[in-house]
Amino acid sequence: MTQSKDTTLTRITDLGVQFGDAPVLRNISLTLRAGEITTVVGPNGSGKSTLLRCLIGAQRPDRGEISHAPGLRIGYVPQKLHIDPTLPLTVARFLSLPSRVSAAAAREALDRAGAGDLYGRQMARLSGGQFQRVLLARALLSRPHLLILDEATQGLDQPGAAAFYQRIEQVRAELGCAVLMVSHDLHVVMAASDRVICLNGHICCEGAPEQVAQAEEYRALFGTGTQGALALYRHDHNHRHDHDHVHGPGCAHDHDHDHPHDHEAAE
Ligand code: ADP
Ligand code: MG
Repeated sequence: MTQSKDTTLTRITDLGVQFGDAPVLRNISLTLRAGEITTVVGPNGSGKSTLLRCLIGAQRPDRGEISHAPGLRIGYVPQKLHIDPTLPLTVARFLSLPSRVSAAAAREALDRAGAGDLYGRQMARLSGGQFQRVLLARALLSRPHLLILDEATQGLDQPGAAAFYQRIEQVRAELGCAVLMVSHDLHVVMAASDRVICLNGHICCEGAPEQVAQAEEYRALFGTGTQGALALYRHDHNHRHDHDHVHGPGCAHDHDHDHPHDHEAAE
C-alpha cells in the first residue's frame, strides 16, 4: 500500500467484545491514520489488550467491524511473552521463528530497535530492556505500516522506559509507520503521543494529550496531578460521565467499575 499522512490505515466501527456474560469492550469506534502515535491509557482490566488483540486478528469481536487498508502490515509487541529459561535460543534464532528471516533482515531490524549488539546472545540472558528491544526488532521485521505495542515498557525503570519511547519515535520517523501503544507511563505518554485514548470498557475520552489531560473523564480515572504512573492506581473508579467530553461517544451512563487487580501493579 502507499500511504500519505492522512491515509486511513484501520477503521474500527462499533466494536464490542464479551467474555461469557461480561462485556469487556463496547461501542468502540476509532480510526488510525498513517504516521500517527496513538496511546491507549486505562486501568487494568479495562480492555486495552483485548482491543489490541482484536486489531491483530487474535481476538474475534462479538460486534462491530475492523477494516484494514489493503496490504496493511502490522507489527505487534505483546504484553507478555514467556520463554522457557532453560531453552537454548539465540536472538538470531528467535527472530527466525516461526518463519525464517535472512541474517541481513534480522540485523537490520535489531539495529533499528537499538539491539544491534544482541544478535548472537541467548534470549534467557537478556535484561528486561534488551528483551523488549528484541521484541521490538521482531515486530519490525515485516517493516510494518502500523506498529502495535502492549505495555512494552513494563518492568523497565524510568530512564529505560524513556529511552524506549525515544526509540519508538525514531522508528516512526524512519519507517513512517503509525504507532498504537498501551502505556502506563503517563508523563511519557503525554509527551510522545499525537493522540491519547482513555479506555474503560468504552472510550471515555480521546484527543490531543493536553485536551485529554483536561477532560473530566480522564481526571476521574487518573487524578489531576502529574504523579505519573502512580496516579493510575490511586484513582476512584466510581466516576460518572455527566459531563461533555472531549471527543467521546456515548458516555452518558454511570458505571461502577470493579477491577480486583487494579492495585497490584502499584508495588
Ligand atoms: P487490560 O489490558 O486493559 O488490562 P484486558 O483486555 O487484558 O485488559 O482484559 C479485560 C478483561 O477481559 C479482564 O477482566 C480480563 O480478565 C478479561 N479477559 C481478557 N481476555 C480474556 C479471555 N480470553 N477470556 C476471558 N476473559 C478475558
Ligand atoms: Mg493488558
